[in-house]
Amino acid sequence: MQNKHHNLIAGEWHQAQNYQANTNPSDVSDVIGLYASGEAADVAVAAAAAAEAQRIYARAALQDRVDLLNRIAAAIEARTTEIGTMLAREEGKVLPEAIGETKRAAQIFRFFAAEAIRIPGDALGSVRKDVDVEVVRDPIGVVGIITPWNFPIAIPAWKIAPALAYGNGVVFKPAELTPGCAHLLAEIIHDAGCPKGLVNMVMGRGSVIGPAMVADPNIAAISFTGSVPTGRNLALSCAAQMKKVQLEMGGRNPMVVLDDADLNIAVEACLNGAFFSTGQRCTASSRFIVQDGIHDRFVEELTKRMATLRVGPALEATTQIGPVASAGQLDGNLGYVALAAKEGCEVVGGERINGPTEGYFQRPALFVGAKAGMTSAREEIFGPCASLIKVGSFEEAVAVANDTEFGLSSGICTQSLKYSREFRRQAQAGMVMVNLATAGVDYHVPFGGRKASSYGPREQGRYAAEFYTTVKTSYVYAG
Ligand code: NAD
Repeated sequence: MQNKHHNLIAGEWHQAQNYQANTNPSDVSDVIGLYASGEAADVAVAAAAAAEAQRIYARAALQDRVDLLNRIAAAIEARTTEIGTMLAREEGKVLPEAIGETKRAAQIFRFFAAEAIRIPGDALGSVRKDVDVEVVRDPIGVVGIITPWNFPIAIPAWKIAPALAYGNGVVFKPAELTPGCAHLLAEIIHDAGCPKGLVNMVMGRGSVIGPAMVADPNIAAISFTGSVPTGRNLALSCAAQMKKVQLEMGGRNPMVVLDDADLNIAVEACLNGAFFSTGQRCTASSRFIVQDGIHDRFVEELTKRMATLRVGPALEATTQIGPVASAGQLDGNLGYVALAAKEGCEVVGGERINGPTEGYFQRPALFVGAKAGMTSAREEIFGPCASLIKVGSFEEAVAVANDTEFGLSSGICTQSLKYSREFRRQAQAGMVMVNLATAGVDYHVPFGGRKASSYGPREQGRYAAEFYTTVKTSYVYAG
C-alpha cells in the first residue's frame, strides 16, 4: 500500500476522497506515492481559513514575515537533496538541474524575506493647504496560486514568497503531474510555524480546483503559470468576477545567430537553451534564426554536439537530458517531429529511444530548413525540438524573431555592439539575451513577457509588489 499524501487545509493535513498515483517518467514502474485529488468544497474551506488567518497576519509585525520567510528558506536549504531528488524523480529533470532549481527556491524566499521590510510607499504634500497625502501598498487578501509541472519547486516559491512578504494568504494548487515537490514545500511551510490556515495547498484536477478558486469570494486574485488556452479561459472568468489576475504562459522563443557570432558561444547557447531540461522551459529557444554566412558551419557543429548528448534516466549521474515529463507530452512532441518532416524540413534526431528502464526518452530534434510560416515552427511544442530558419540579413532575422504570437524571451548571438543594441530595442519580448541562452534568469529582476506569453503585472524582483499589493491613497487634514 502506497503512502498517502493529503492536502493542507486550514492548518491540518486533510484526507481526500480520491488519490492519484505520482509516477516517475524515467521509469513508469516506479510509483512515487499517492497524492490527494481534492474537490471544490476543499477550496471553500481553504479560502475561508486563509481569509481569517490573513486578517491577523497582515496586521502583525513585519518582522514576523521576515522570520517566517527566512525559516522556510533555511528548511528548503536543509532539505535540498531530498527535494531535488523528488523533483528529478517526478518531473524528469536531471539531478544537478533539480538541485539548482531547489536552491533557487530558497534564494527566492530569502529575497522576499528582505523585501517584506522594504514595501514601497510615498509621502507627498497635497495641493490643498494643511493636507498630507500618503500612498501605501496594502495586501490584496487571499491569492489563488496555480502552477505548472515544469518548475515544480521554483514557480510555487516565486508566487508564495511574495504573497507572504506582502501580507497575503494563499490557496495553492500545484500541477497534477508534480505533487511531490508541492507537498514537500507545503510541509516545510507548515513546519516553519506558518500561522494556521494562512497557506493552504489543494491538490487536484485543474478543471475542478481552478474554477472553484476563481468563483470563491474569499480569493481576491489569481496568479497562474501554464499554457495559453488555460490562461486565456482563466482571464475571462477572472474578469467576470472582477478579480485581479496574472498569467505567465507559453513561448516559441527565437535565438538569432548572426554571421559575426562566436560559433562556440552560439552553439552552446542554442544547445543549452533548446534541449537542456528536455526543452521543457517556457523560455527555451525553439526557433534558431541563422544568417546564411554561418548557417552551414552552425548546423554542422550543433548536430555534432547534439549527437553527443546523453539522454537517459534523470537520476543517473551521466545523463544530460532526462525523459519527457509524461506520455501525453511525448506524443505531442513526436507529432511535431512528424509534422516538421511533412512540412519539408530535414529532421535531425527527435526519435523515441529505449532507456535502461521504461520511460519517455526522446532524442533532441532539429528541424533544418524550416520556414517561418510552418506550423511546426510557430506553435509551442514544449519539448526538446527546435526549428532552424535561414535568413539573409539582420533585418530579416529581427522580422522573423518578432513574427510570433508569443513574446517571452528572445536572444541574439553576435559580436557587434550595433546589432546587439538594435536587437535589444526591437525585440518584442519581455526578456532579451545577448550571447546567452534564452532560458536561465536571475531571481531579483522582473520575469515575464508580451503578447500571448504574459498577461498582467510582472513576476519576481521588486516588480512583484505590483500584483501582490493594492495601492491605497490616504489624505489627512491637520489644520
Ligand atoms: P496547463 O495550462 O495545462 O496547467 C497549468 C496549471 O493549470 C495546472 O496546475 C493545471 O492543473 C491548472 N489548470 C488546468 N485546467 C484549469 C482550469 N480550467 N482552471 C484553472 N487551472 C487549471 O500547463 P502545464 O502543461 O502544466 O504547463 C506547461 C505550460 O506552462 C507551457 O505552455 C509553458 O510554456 C507554460 N509555462 C510558462 C512559464 C512562464 O513563466 N511563462 C513557466 C513555466 C511554464
